[in-house]
Amino acid sequence: MCISPLSAICDAGRRLHARNLLAAADGNVSLRLDDGRIAITPSGVAKARLEPADMAFLAPDGTVLEGRPSTERLMHLAVYGACPEAKAVVHAHPPTAIAWSLARPDLAFLPSDALPEVILAAGRIPFVPYARPGTAAMGDALRPFLPEHRLLILARHGALAWGESLEEAVNGLERLEHVCQILKAALELGGARPLPDEELDALRQARLQGGRRLL
Ligand SMILES: [Zn+2]
Repeated sequence: MCISPLSAICDAGRRLHARNLLAAADGNVSLRLDDGRIAITPSGVAKARLEPADMAFLAPDGTVLEGRPSTERLMHLAVYGACPEAKAVVHAHPPTAIAWSLARPDLAFLPSDALPEVILAAGRIPFVPYARPGTAAMGDALRPFLPEHRLLILARHGALAWGESLEEAVNGLERLEHVCQILKAALELGGARPLPDEELDALRQARLQGGRRLL
């Protein structure tokens, strides 16, 4: 079945809400359309109740073409500007990922070196330093991590994933919260032991050879 791009954004919103990756109108989803415009979720509409007619549209330079776009659009524009391969950007507020950033502000990366599939699928997952949500500073905080990282935790705020499709970006966010839950459980059981260095090197090499797409 062929689904329209705007319906696909609505489906993504419902999926994020159903998986508890955001609450109410939190988070935002955008898609770069074939004509170069960016379709983005509107401000203040619950993600579980999105309709295609709610969508807003931006020009690549950020000009609002139609609708009331999300206040966090500057973050999306920063990703599209820095990542030519980006077709979709998803931002949500996954609870365990946020909790990691609150409890461990000392960490530069999520300590996921115990999990080979995370290394293969996403590489390292950085904590982007805090910037006030909805400001240009949020885009500035993100840029040093782009285009290398497709999965990022935004300190004290949420998470962001981008991909070459909406499916890739939504899957990435789901995976991120799942990994954060596994690591939290491991900590409660005594701590996650990392893989040996030589195995980590081999896994990182395999990821570079396999491409950067989130698996
Ligand atoms: Zn947010």
